[in-house]
Amino acid sequence: MSAFFKLLARNRLALGGLIVMGLVVALALITPLLPLVDPDATNTANRFLPPFSDGALLGTDALGRDLLSRLLWGTRLSLAVGFAAALFAAVAGAAVGIIAGFYGGRTDNIIMRAVDMLMAFPYILLALAIVAALGPGLVNALIAVSVVNIPFFARNIRGITVGLANKEFVDAAKLAGMSNARIITSEILPNVVPVIVIAMSTTIGWMILETAGLSFLGLGSQPPQADLGSMLGEARSALITNPHTSVIPGIMILIIVMSINLLGDGVRDALDPRLKSGALSRPMAATRVDRKHTPAPEARTEGILSLENLRTEFHVKDRIYKAVSGVSLSVKPGECLGVIGESGSGKSVTALSIMGLVASPPGVITGGAARLEGRDMIGARYGDLRTLRGRRVAYIFQDPLATLHPLYKVGDQLVEAISSHRAISKSEGRAKAIELLKSVRIPNAEERVDSYPHEMSGGMRQRVGIAMALANDPDVIIADEPTTALDVTVQAQILSLLDDLRRERGLAIVFITHDFGVVAQLCDRVAVMYAGRIVEEGPTMEILRAPAHPYTARLIACVPELGAGKRKLEAIPGLPPSVDALPAGCAFADRCLKAQPSCKEGEILLEGTGSRAVRCLYPELSLSKETA
Ligand code: ADP
Ligand code: MG
Repeated sequence: MSAFFKLLARNRLALGGLIVMGLVVALALITPLLPLVDPDATNTANRFLPPFSDGALLGTDALGRDLLSRLLWGTRLSLAVGFAAALFAAVAGAAVGIIAGFYGGRTDNIIMRAVDMLMAFPYILLALAIVAALGPGLVNALIAVSVVNIPFFARNIRGITVGLANKEFVDAAKLAGMSNARIITSEILPNVVPVIVIAMSTTIGWMILETAGLSFLGLGSQPPQADLGSMLGEARSALITNPHTSVIPGIMILIIVMSINLLGDGVRDALDPRLKSGALSRPMAATRVDRKHTPAPEARTEGILSLENLRTEFHVKDRIYKAVSGVSLSVKPGECLGVIGESGSGKSVTALSIMGLVASPPGVITGGAARLEGRDMIGARYGDLRTLRGRRVAYIFQDPLATLHPLYKVGDQLVEAISSHRAISKSEGRAKAIELLKSVRIPNAEERVDSYPHEMSGGMRQRVGIAMALANDPDVIIADEPTTALDVTVQAQILSLLDDLRRERGLAIVFITHDFGVVAQLCDRVAVMYAGRIVEEGPTMEILRAPAHPYTARLIACVPELGAGKRKLEAIPGLPPSVDALPAGCAFADRCLKAQPSCKEGEILLEGTGSRAVRCLYPELSLSKETA
């Protein structure tokens, strides 16, 4: 709750709305206690006194009634009616929506068609018709305004409820034997309350206006009772001669509706988790680059893709998350480089930085270079990046269901991947799609090309993901945990497929994983990442046989061996440090059994000989020249 108010307070306009609204509500609450004259007392001798007259601060109206008193009492009434109408519409609309959405089928059909019928009328006309039928009066106006707003709430809430009604937690509640009423109150309702509050906060101002509108037409509050609408209505005839009589209630309506709407927007932003995480702030086309020193342009290319001291940070308000702090890697054609590390060690951010795919804000590349055949991709023009994305460097992601579009056939999606880089005819595209599906060993490729993603198994979808990555014959494939969501047999198939592909096509593969077993099967070399840094690097077999960094050793010890009998698996105690507060020295020191005080000081370098390197003062295996 306090987090909610903090978020709300950060939004200046909403805070302003809250303060003004608070003042108006407070004023309305204390009106009976104020020393005001009777708002209905007429005094025809003092008609149309201007504001700041003796005894009438805001002047008087056509019947000599005190405008200040009428304004305060009228505000009180208008607010009460507006809030009551909003509350009533929200409760009734939500109830209707939840019932329709939860029970579905015929219940839903009947209820929603009735709601549709209500929505088919222009709602001001509908409100007028309701008041005409019930007779003029404030209570009837309240009923009319509520009723015409019920469909808005019902539609909103029904949509949410339909989505919730088939969720696993509702199934679980049914399995637990809960009654429908109980499921609605304990499972559905808490999930829709924020939506109800959001919808209400953004419509309250509207309802106050609608009520005022009815009163203005003489259908709401009846004389002599004042509300803001009727005050405006009565002042209509003196609009030119005595404008203050209409300007005063007009300004009050403006203040109320403005502040409620600003507050409502703020409430919505603070309550909506998607807006909180910045879903509405459009990310830039390519990651923002803000390098302190631009690396030397001369290309010292060892491989087709080489990273040099790459640094990527997330700047979130006043915190800096150093997700990648100085990573250097390189991979040659036909080679597979494994990047391994615990979740959160910066593997994905490293991979995404190469083609400027890290979302900005909050991502910023603050240093280093990513060279594709000697050409630095960091800070390259967006147009250049776009032609290279997918064509020279392709990505495969963990969850193929999330990367494939659910409504298009996989064949069409493959063609789309190609046609975004070069024009391709329909028949040629189809042939190419079938060829791609064959190349990733999908049986019946001719039929499968017309399948939708949901008609395929997880392994097959990942093959489609790989086919898509291959579509433009890239030189480098960056695979970010492509087998993590698959079972082991499918995983083995996918790995051997990738292995064949790189041998056949001379692909360079950067394979990101958290599993040393996978690295052992596929990768020639491996780089171990921890807290945004590479802590060890070398040929896979050598590292597996004799890891140098204590962290690598512990990671390898975590992998169970088949047929090796019962061995105690050594889980690594503790958690990686948070990358917004990295300790000095070795980030692993706090979890390391061999840590010495000197491990927690200064910068520890990645040092080694030949193909191996380690970032450790007391490695398991010394890589210095004397022993090498
Ligand atoms: P992984 O190695 O599991 O792929 P990531 O590269 O996804 O890890 O994340 C590296 C670090 O970057 C994590 O500690 C994460 O907290 C941080 N991070 C990622 N995205 C954001 C973001 N949008 N804002 C702040 N921190 C982020
Ligand atoms: Mg990741």
